[in-house]
Amino acid sequence: MIRLILAAAAVLIAALAGYVGYRSWTFTPPAPRDAPAIPDTRAYEIDISAAAMHLAEAIQFRTITLMDEEEDTGAFEDLHAWMQARYPAFHEVARRETVNDLSLLYTWPGADAAQPPIVLLAHQDVVPVPDDTRAAWGVDPFAGIIEQDAVWGRGAMDDKGSLVALLEAAEFLAARGWRPERTIIFAFGHDEEIGGPRGAARMAALLAQRGVRAWFVLDEGMAAIDPHPITGAPVAMIGLSERGAGIMRVRAVSQPGHASMPERETAVSLLAEAVDRIHAMPIERRLEGGPAIDMMRALGPELGVMDRVALANEWMFGPIIHERFSANTAAAALLGTTVAPTVIRGGDHAGILPGEAIALINFRIHPRDHADDLMQRAQNAMSGMEGVTLEWDSPPLAASPVSSATSASYALIAGVSRAVLPQAPVAPGLVLAGTDARHYAGMAENVYRYQPILLSPEDLDMPHGVNERMTLDNFERMIRFYIGIMETGAAP
Ligand SMILES: [Zn+2]
Repeated sequence: MIRLILAAAAVLIAALAGYVGYRSWTFTPPAPRDAPAIPDTRAYEIDISAAAMHLAEAIQFRTITLMDEEEDTGAFEDLHAWMQARYPAFHEVARRETVNDLSLLYTWPGADAAQPPIVLLAHQDVVPVPDDTRAAWGVDPFAGIIEQDAVWGRGAMDDKGSLVALLEAAEFLAARGWRPERTIIFAFGHDEEIGGPRGAARMAALLAQRGVRAWFVLDEGMAAIDPHPITGAPVAMIGLSERGAGIMRVRAVSQPGHASMPERETAVSLLAEAVDRIHAMPIERRLEGGPAIDMMRALGPELGVMDRVALANEWMFGPIIHERFSANTAAAALLGTTVAPTVIRGGDHAGILPGEAIALINFRIHPRDHADDLMQRAQNAMSGMEGVTLEWDSPPLAASPVSSATSASYALIAGVSRAVLPQAPVAPGLVLAGTDARHYAGMAENVYRYQPILLSPEDLDMPHGVNERMTLDNFERMIRFYIGIMETGAAP
């Protein structure tokens, strides 16, 4: 009998090992359809010093996002006039429209109108330079200084780098007499930094109203990072989706009065308990059901054997994987919704019981989760408590749909990235912040967020931070990348 049990156990272990081994062995990215032939744009003569000068000029227009329509729009108008003067060949071939006065929509018509267009995004607006950070800048943030092989200033990376690189690429192709087979649309918003309500949202609606259905949309949002937290080496990450967001307002009420005669629970103690329960409520955290699993598959060849075995068998090694991911906050956010209590307000006198206390909890919503469901789970967590109400502070924003990592357009972006940045294997990713791209979700099956700029983890603080700059290497790579995207993506 014992022998029989041992034999059965041995068979079971062998089967399990075989299954784990098989999953590990087959844990590779599926081959993309129609991987395109990418021409070597490195052969093209790009005048990088002239292009850098142009980026420096663009930085000098203080296109800080306008908070209301009464504000002076002069900086944006000056930038528009500069674009027209600086990029004549492009303006010769493309139709220019303004949307809500300050956003720019360019259509470069393709020879074959039946082919769905490519939509390329960038934004003109920049965040301000707060007075208390000005001293930490090594240079004047709006002077457009070129030094140490970089163009310095507010917007150099976010997002005038993209804006100017797109224009440089289009000008380069237009001046050579190249013409697209499929239409290329450029949409340059003017209020991305406040969510794009008057820029991107309006342009996307206009295109939808015209019946435009894009082949794909490409925006900023992710880049190549070195070292990547999982592989320890450079990885170019193409954003397939961006997280949603919601602010949950927690309100607790109780009898106001004097603190010498308190009820068992006060508004403050109730609120503390409620916040704690919401913060601790179980959130699903997995590789599957979002871009994380696609990222891991794409990185499979870069991983050691043990990592590969573990990642391919999340059903068995889940806890180890999650432990490893949670050591890095960006990696942890890939696995599930994050919940961060940020504001708490109660009484303002130590001797008085307040009638109410309020907290705000910041949810960043993973593509797997829905705001309604998160609210329901938070409500459930309140069971047995009285005097606590929950609501979304404003309508929550859903995560954007997850674009395909096996489409022909993904293969195009990945292929051109490999051509200009051969040292970085390409993998899909999840954008942790927000971009204008979310407004275009209904217009194309696939919306990607990627710039082929190689950054260190510290560089990621530059957008919105101090000493924002674009290295000439990265800038040149970006120009070649957009040339490759247009030339290959809109080839006859
Ligand atoms: Zn941006």
